[in-house]
Amino acid sequence: QNYTREAILRMAEEEDVEFIRLQFTDMFGTLKNIAIPSSKLEKAMDNRCVIDASSIGGFIRNEEADMYLHPDLSTFTILPWRPQQGKVARFICDIYQEDGTPYKESPRFILNRVAAKAAEMGYSLMVNPECEFFLFHTDDNGMPTTTTHEKAGYMDLSPVDLGENARRDMVLTLEEMGYEIESSHHEIAPGQHEIDFQFSDAPETADKVMTFKVAVRTIAKRHGLHATFMPKPKAGVNGSGMHVNMYLMKDGKNIFSDPSDDLGLSREGYSFLAGIFAHIKGMTALCNPLVNSYKRLAPGFEAPSDITWSSRQRTALVRVQTQRNEGARLELRSPDSSANPYLVFALCLAAGLDGIEKNLQAPKELKENIRKLSREEKENAGIDTLPENLSEALEEFQKDPLMRAVLGDTFTKCYVKAKRKEWESYMEQVSEWEIEQYLYRV
Ligand code: GLN
Ligand code: MG
Ligand code: MG
Ligand code: MG
Repeated sequence: QNYTREAILRMAEEEDVEFIRLQFTDMFGTLKNIAIPSSKLEKAMDNRCVIDASSIGGFIRNEEADMYLHPDLSTFTILPWRPQQGKVARFICDIYQEDGTPYKESPRFILNRVAAKAAEMGYSLMVNPECEFFLFHTDDNGMPTTTTHEKAGYMDLSPVDLGENARRDMVLTLEEMGYEIESSHHEIAPGQHEIDFQFSDAPETADKVMTFKVAVRTIAKRHGLHATFMPKPKAGVNGSGMHVNMYLMKDGKNIFSDPSDDLGLSREGYSFLAGIFAHIKGMTALCNPLVNSYKRLAPGFEAPSDITWSSRQRTALVRVQTQRNEGARLELRSPDSSANPYLVFALCLAAGLDGIEKNLQAPKELKENIRKLSREEKENAGIDTLPENLSEALEEFQKDPLMRAVLGDTFTKCYVKAKRKEWESYMEQVSEWEIEQYLYRV
């Protein structure tokens, strides 16, 4: 919605809005906000609200800690889950420095910069994410557990289920907020759900993913449940992914579609795919940012671990789909919802454009099930694998110059430093698995 200042002031007045949340996303994909009383609404729209950014994740430049929040007026939304009296609205903000220049490490800025480059070439990236999550019970102290009493599985209908009711409420709330929900269903693991929304351009979709997660958590809580986007909360069952469906639009048309191709994918589509393949190892540190992300990617649970594509195999890294109304699309299946959506989409777009600019050739489709191939057979077929853990992913990330080009030097340095620390802290732990395996035996 393209709201004017006057329209926003009027809405806030008429709807009796008492507080405004000024939101932005940090480097690690965490939504941050400050709340201001509605009497400060004009000040906020004058871009005069300041944050002290020195203690926000990834904002490490102490000397330049004062940052200005510039609300994006088009993101004005009254949050439907707040009380009817004294309503709360929000803006998603861009971040500017004291000298009036944009803060270049802001993920929203990074995505907008790549999107602007694509726009110069006449392209816009259309994205539709599939966010999966678990709904778990809380304990007597209200703390989240990994327990679910639910027995339902893939696309099951379970009328008496607590999770089912919560999901219904989530969909209705999101629709109230202007989301077009394509579908929602029960996922494979007990307590696991998925809600998909429709294609919009990458910057808008990234904003939507951030708000989606807040909405899902908030509504879950109302139903006495804890929603988690943790990639692999439980061993032995599927983890939660955020498959990213994409196509490029030019002059209002999906340019990935080409009916004359066997699979219906155009030359640009194949090159975009080749670009993703060329950079996916470097991108993985951002698409799968947690130590835990790599446990989801371990073989056997419908998440990819090898760099292959297919028009039918669900375990492939990229699935090419052409049977849908929108025409051809690529589905990148490795990202998970713990990732920062601004950065995931920025890197997908940059990698894909690199493929188009360099006219890269996609490898052949892998028609057989990758799970049936041995390590040797994969090697002989020249099939590469994704990084197996966060440490490997960080090495690949630092090796790929495109990552630095998209994210910038400062961002890259801070990110690697923080994530190295996370990895080291993990490596200092001794897990139950190790005690079970080794304590008696060795
Ligand atoms: N949960 C799987 C993943 O981690 C996907 C399963 C599915 O959507 N069919 O990617
Ligand atoms: Mg799905
Ligand atoms: Mg799914
Ligand atoms: Mg999918």
